[in-house]
Amino acid sequence: MSNRRDFIKTLPAALGAAAWVMNGSVARASEDRDGPIDESGRYVLPPLTYDYAALEPHIDEQTMRLHHDKHHLGYVNGLNTALAQLDQAREKQDYGLVTHYSREAAFHGSGHLLHAIFWKNMSPDGGGEPQGELAKALTEHFGSFERFRDHFAAASAKVEGSGWGILAYEPLGKKLVILQAEKHQNLTQWGAVPLLVVDVWEHAYYLKYQNRRGDYIKAFFNVINWKDVAQRFATAKQL
Ligand code: MN
Repeated sequence: MSNRRDFIKTLPAALGAAAWVMNGSVARASEDRDGPIDESGRYVLPPLTYDYAALEPHIDEQTMRLHHDKHHLGYVNGLNTALAQLDQAREKQDYGLVTHYSREAAFHGSGHLLHAIFWKNMSPDGGGEPQGELAKALTEHFGSFERFRDHFAAASAKVEGSGWGILAYEPLGKKLVILQAEKHQNLTQWGAVPLLVVDVWEHAYYLKYQNRRGDYIKAFFNVINWKDVAQRFATAKQL
């Protein structure tokens, strides 16, 4: 890990925004997406699309360097490690540590996905107010841009401990919502789109299965509507 970090530290700035940094190697990426992956399917750290100092004086260069090159890279590496461990668990059919590595994947995965959005949510040409559909939607759902801004700012300021303030689209009610993510790992991989969910709260199975949650989950597989899951998958891929 320390070698990797040292390498990152010494990367020449001249590599520019098209360079993707991962595992001490640099690969060219053809497409600029939020969370790109390499040929083997591993996540890589997306480069900033602007200079580290470009958001000065609002966000300082040193913070951006540490935040992007160290903190965000840590999430990327942690996510890859957790997923590799889960690969191994499937291969060996040994799920003894599945909870541990699921938590690791949630913690690092949320960290990676949220930071990837965060960098893109900022720009040296940013500020002001949104236009068009988004402006209309903010007014519709929050009353006005100013009310959205104040609500978002208050919710973000009051997140307890470390976390995130989040404006999100809730597709069931087709609403914009403001959320506080107090511990992003508790809220699983933010940015991931649910395709198939199983309710494992006791109220979902206790009358029939009592403490036999595993039996309930086996039974659930007999009723999964794969057409619905496939439709959600097709829609999610458009994002
Ligand atoms: Mn951060």
